[in-house]
Amino acid sequence: MQLADVDLDDAPADDLTHGPEVYTRGVSQHPVGPYVPAPAAVVPWDERATAVARRVAALVAERRPDLVVEHVGSTAVPGMPGKGIIDLGLATDPKDIAATTAVLIDLGFGPQTGPDPFPPTRPMLVGSMDVDGATFRIHLHVMPDHRELDRQIAFRDALRDDPELARSYADLKASIVQGGMVDGHQYTYQKQAWIGDIHRRLGVQKPPIAPPATIGILGGGQLGRMLGLAARAMGYRILVLDPDPDCPAAAISDGQIVAGYDDVGAALRLAERCAVVTYELEHVAIEVVAAIEMHAPVRPGRAPLAVTQDRLAERSFVASLGVEVAPWREVRSVADLRSAAEGAVGLPMRLKVVTGGYDGRGQVRIVSSDDLGTALGGLGRPRDEPLLAESELDFEAEVSVIVSRGDDGHMAHYPISLNTHDEGILVESVAPAPVDPAVVERAAALGERLAVAMGLVGTLTAELFLMRDGRLVLNELAPRVHNSGHWTIEGAATSQFEQHIRAICGLELGAIDALAPSAMVNVLGSGSPRAARLAVDGVGAALSDPAAHLHLYDKRRVFQRRKMGHVTALGTTTDDALTRARAAAARLRWADES
Ligand code: ADP
Ligand code: MG
Repeated sequence: MQLADVDLDDAPADDLTHGPEVYTRGVSQHPVGPYVPAPAAVVPWDERATAVARRVAALVAERRPDLVVEHVGSTAVPGMPGKGIIDLGLATDPKDIAATTAVLIDLGFGPQTGPDPFPPTRPMLVGSMDVDGATFRIHLHVMPDHRELDRQIAFRDALRDDPELARSYADLKASIVQGGMVDGHQYTYQKQAWIGDIHRRLGVQKPPIAPPATIGILGGGQLGRMLGLAARAMGYRILVLDPDPDCPAAAISDGQIVAGYDDVGAALRLAERCAVVTYELEHVAIEVVAAIEMHAPVRPGRAPLAVTQDRLAERSFVASLGVEVAPWREVRSVADLRSAAEGAVGLPMRLKVVTGGYDGRGQVRIVSSDDLGTALGGLGRPRDEPLLAESELDFEAEVSVIVSRGDDGHMAHYPISLNTHDEGILVESVAPAPVDPAVVERAAALGERLAVAMGLVGTLTAELFLMRDGRLVLNELAPRVHNSGHWTIEGAATSQFEQHIRAICGLELGAIDALAPSAMVNVLGSGSPRAARLAVDGVGAALSDPAAHLHLYDKRRVFQRRKMGHVTALGTTTDDALTRARAAAARLRWADES
């Protein structure tokens, strides 16, 4: 995760939701003591922090006179309230990071703990020091790029020199904490956009990744293809990693690494050639992301992937933020399932695999208690693997909100779309969803809150159930562009694909306005598996409506219900658009149908 633009005093080292991992090194022989994670609370400025910073700087300089430790962050600004953690920074040559880290470990510093640490190529070391009986916690950031440290120093100096700026920064912190945000990560991410604006004002903003830089995409399906097309239109180069040499993104990329999403070696070969790497699917191994982060930032990030690739982790995460989900239980046995059915979950229910499900695959509907005995085996997963059992909800509609969050923390959301599924697979979306504007606002607020909480940079899609009483219940999160956002290619001022590229490259976000009521209808496969070819006359007929736009993903094989393409139409109303999109899609036929 990239936290380079965050003021360092608040960079997260401890995550309350993941339990305390105490760094305890042999204490007495080291001048720097252990680091104990604690809840983030805003405390008044403490003069003693300056003494700690000076002492650490001196200790480092004794061992390595060439390394200059700077005191940055709020504890370096007289009068500034903050988390009280002393942020220190030093910049050195990338090749010297390991040696510098060793010096710091020798002083008693330890590695950063928590679920989402800085990578070893830009580590943050943690420790503590006692002054007058009080223990001060220390974050020591080791940066391979002097510009990052310069940015921190410029921000610190601006706060020191400008009481008005310092006051508004203090107000911002207070407002975040008043809102109940005390988790270290969230506190940091909430401030990011404000700090980004100050950096811009000071002229020290992080430069974007500009074309013709190479963007790596993990996954070469239709989403990778459309991301790649948007990126190439902007002048970027694209490198795709996918096991299938004929994947939809192959034809539009500058190169492909043919390998699986769990192949660390292949991912490293990709990363070496990329300025930034993104993913088009959740099913990428975390070790792959961790390896890539040694070379290039991975966006939306490691945490969004970890949270969303496991339905149980996702449920716990959103519940911790007070977002409503259907009543659920983790089940491992028929007995568990029976108690879920008789208890909080009830019947009918959905039993879902925890990882790897998509387009309605990997879930079964259980209506009767007679089916409880066979349901577990029906999903074809190993015996002890946990599954998610959740109540089937009687919703009014399914909607989704797509939120984009830039590298500077600024966010934007598209008008929400109204989605229709058939046996778990999305078939149609219309946007802007013809719903009460208050629902749109609530959906957007929910999506933005989740994006901030994950520190996500890029795109987050929240699939939601709109209940008959107006409640929004979260169904599923995807840290990526989404099928329900395909309408934005023609229907919005900036497509979700371009927006994602802008976000991950550190560019400002584009306008999200809908240009007209839009509808998207998926073109699904039919018939027995065979080479994919559309009947020519059908293509002609489909596009006889000038409002209709055809997108085909160039998949080589067609089979029943495979997502092969989509049609978008703009209209005078969403109903009009939907009528047109449906009519166009209905004219398409797969040749040689048996
Ligand atoms: P996938 O990863 O396959 O998209 P989802 O959990 O989103 O899995 O389920 C696919 C679709 O199945 C949903 O969009 C919805 O139509 C239906 N569905 C899933 N869970 C429930 C539920 N708890 N209650 C009612 N419908 C559900
Ligand atoms: Mg879904």
